[in-house]
Amino acid sequence: MTAEPRLRVGVAELRRRPGNRVHLERDVAVGGLAVTTAAVPDGGVAHLDAVLESLSDGITLSGEVSFPWEGPCRRCLEPTGGELSVPVREVFKDVPEGGDLLALDGDAVELGPVVRDAVVLALPLAPLCSEDCPGPDPEHFPVTSADPERAPADPRWAALAELRFDPEPDDR
Ligand SMILES: [Zn+2]
Repeated sequence: MTAEPRLRVGVAELRRRPGNRVHLERDVAVGGLAVTTAAVPDGGVAHLDAVLESLSDGITLSGEVSFPWEGPCRRCLEPTGGELSVPVREVFKDVPEGGDLLALDGDAVELGPVVRDAVVLALPLAPLCSEDCPGPDPEHFPVTSADPERAPADPRWAALAELRFDPEPDDR
């Protein structure tokens, strides 16, 4: 069965009694979801592993979403990526009365948007290929400004040389 962007789950049986619980493992298609710094590869699938629990006036979802991501390392700019797992927690009510609550759709819940939101919020904003990434590889990004004789200054860069940058307060 191929994953789809939607994930509608029937909850009529679950809701027969408050306190009922059901374990749910499903895949949701999330390929192409992206922030400016990272993305889910095309065809990427998020795996939802969660428990649904019945309340008297709704249900809760709690579990984990795992998904693949890729993007350029913020230091060396080489492609990097991996697999992330993030917790998900949602409350679906018959009559949602707060911004954090989602509405039940009859006897079903639509979990696709929940999974997609979790993925987008968790995509790395500052990807790093490894904790001790040394930065740009000199062979890929040669630094030529050291020797002005052999690397005459390009007038386009001259203005940049005049610029001064304040030191960053800390490296976050
Ligand atoms: Zn790196």
